[in-house]
Amino acid sequence: MNLHQAKQDIIEVGRRLYQKEFVASNDGNISARIAEDRILTTPTGLCKGTLALEDLCVVDLKGNHISGHRRASSEIGMHLFLYHERPDINAVVHAHPPTATGFSVAGIPLTECVLPEVIITVGSIPIAGYGTPGGPEISEPIRQYVKDYDAYLLENHGATTIGIDVMNAYFKMETMEHFAKILFVAKQLGGVNVLNSEQVGKLVQIRERMGLRGPDPACLIPDETPAPDGAIPTLRTKSANGNDARSEQDLVAEITRRVMAELNK
Ligand SMILES: [Zn+2]
Repeated sequence: MNLHQAKQDIIEVGRRLYQKEFVASNDGNISARIAEDRILTTPTGLCKGTLALEDLCVVDLKGNHISGHRRASSEIGMHLFLYHERPDINAVVHAHPPTATGFSVAGIPLTECVLPEVIITVGSIPIAGYGTPGGPEISEPIRQYVKDYDAYLLENHGATTIGIDVMNAYFKMETMEHFAKILFVAKQLGGVNVLNSEQVGKLVQIRERMGLRGPDPACLIPDETPAPDGAIPTLRTKSANGNDARSEQDLVAEITRRVMAELNK
């Protein structure tokens, strides 16, 4: 990734996050992978709305300080975890967008198939369990979702998105918050009209034609019975690593689940 472009994008995204009130005070953090073992990141303790280029700093994948006169974000550990688990991504954005975060506080994941552009670009957005901010325990609950999703709600905390570059990760954050607002209004108006499996199938085809990779667009559709263990039902296309074995396992699990559901009727 071009270093100068990455720096400018981080400054711009910080400004947008603050202006849109996706963060308050010094909250939130943004980073970009600028080389194999180099991560450009926002510093700790500064408002993201007024960052200057010289405020940014560089760490290696172990979190060692490489350059810059400020200390890296306190959430750099979560960013490094995501870069490690997802070699295909080059940017991480973490913020506290109020409506999406409200869903995380209420324990309601953004997993219903409702809006076409959300299904195509972000897919389903699960809630990763709570972990104390600023420490390693915030990353562990994301592990189960990290390979298949590009956007995560963090329980009682906020949200994190990842992408091929800084703007890509940021736009997923914007899409998530927009989706949360629309869903909130629909719920207040009395109900959510969820897309059916045929409608979702066509969106998945569009997604495949666009060559989008990364997130698994799994989401809840009306004729899906919730998975017995409370997991998000699967509607899987190719996952980030194109691992067919994984897809096959999922297919077997899905068939087993449906057979068990039939037997339990
Ligand atoms: Zn946070």
